[in-house]
Amino acid sequence: MTSDWTKHYLDLSHLVIRCKKCRTHAMVMLSGKGRGTICPECDSAKLQKQLAAFLPAP
Ligand SMILES: [Zn+2]
Repeated sequence: MTSDWTKHYLDLSHLVIRCKKCRTHAMVMLSGKGRGTICPECDSAKLQKQLAAFLPAP
């Protein structure tokens, strides 16, 4: 499945903001107001839900 989901959040990896939970992955900032930063691994469910909102309706 090809996805251009990366455009939907700002990659903060260059800022090296590590996840407080896994301390492995860099946090990403979701687009939109009040979304805040999430870990793509620990908050994968939230990330998928966020991304789903961008996908066109079937
Ligand atoms: Zn994490």
